[in-house]
Amino acid sequence: MGFSTDAVHGGQEAEPITGAVITPIFQTSTYKQDGLGRHKGYEYARTHNPTREAYERNIAVLERGKYAVAFASGMSAIDAVVRLFKEGDEIVVTDNVYGGTYRLFEQLLANAGLRFKFIDTAKPAEVEKAITGQTALLFIETPTNPTLKVTDIAAVSEIAHKRGIPVAVDNTFMSPYLQTPLELGADIVIHSATKYLNGHSDMVGGVVVLNDKSYMEKLRFIQNAVGAVPGPFDCWLALRGTKTLAVRMKQHEENARILAKYIAGHPRPQKVYYPGLPDHPQHVLQTNQARGFGGIISFDIGSLAEAEKVLGRVKLFMLAESLGGVESLISHPATMTHGSIPEQDRIKLGVTDGLVRLSVGIEDVEDLRADLEQALSF
Ligand SMILES: *Cc1c(COP(=O)(O)O)cnc(C)c1O
Repeated sequence: MGFSTDAVHGGQEAEPITGAVITPIFQTSTYKQDGLGRHKGYEYARTHNPTREAYERNIAVLERGKYAVAFASGMSAIDAVVRLFKEGDEIVVTDNVYGGTYRLFEQLLANAGLRFKFIDTAKPAEVEKAITGQTALLFIETPTNPTLKVTDIAAVSEIAHKRGIPVAVDNTFMSPYLQTPLELGADIVIHSATKYLNGHSDMVGGVVVLNDKSYMEKLRFIQNAVGAVPGPFDCWLALRGTKTLAVRMKQHEENARILAKYIAGHPRPQKVYYPGLPDHPQHVLQTNQARGFGGIISFDIGSLAEAEKVLGRVKLFMLAESLGGVESLISHPATMTHGSIPEQDRIKLGVTDGLVRLSVGIEDVEDLRADLEQALSF
């Protein structure tokens, strides 16, 4: 089936008792058993919940994977993936990953004996160099937040697989509508479902998709043992969100392309980051490995003072963290999402004090353009 059809129907069946077309919110913590050891496959809701299962099946279909395992947040999904590995294992990571991922790895899991090596995975030769006998996982994010750097998923997967190392991809920025890493050779796909999958800025969630049965069983064990599970209502919201993923992504992308061009032609911003612009360093790669460029644009306005001006002047773009919702947001990565990264490292990654990030929503693009125009006229 095509993506839009799968988005609406993938993994979904009418509810058997009533015929309800929409999977109900099974808001229960436990299930009645008919006798000792006799139950309907559901014993306790940390382990099993039908709303969660419907959502997991839907995401698995959309990412073209066999299994999906849902978590309470993108961070708990990433944490679960990294917990597949053990003390002493080394994980090679894209250097400009999401700030929360950096914090989890460096400030929490590094203390638990895992080792992280942050490198520029946009350069396959760097990946080749970074892998050692201790490397257990290659963890990439593409395009990255907030400078939209692109890693060649197929090329780095080939390098890692030659050494027997699995590859995990944080696919949050693209969503499966625009990019399906498993089809490009990756082994594990991770999402912050908080963003495009849900798409309406009204829940927090994460999900992992994969084809390997033994990793899936370990992730299920972690999901149940740790208990960082999404509640049934959040699963229902995310499942409602994915039904419109295709139509939303089309509009996010169309709006972002127009706005990126507009910002690139504006005299004030010094640098614009959007993989859809022909002068983006990995524009051709992005064109080949994805079905589009997404809805995130960053630009450097020169200084903190000028960034503050823009952030203060916008009327339609709301100053807020997060991304991927129907409404347009504006943020300042250096002080918001990337505040936990040491200044020197942050500047090296291009997250300068003047950097402003837009999450382009699905509003009328003329209104968004007009808002930017007035915000940049100072
Ligand atoms: C938001 C985000 C995360 C973290 O997800 P939460 O749902 O906020 O826990 C991870 N990766 C990327 C790329 C993100 O944008």
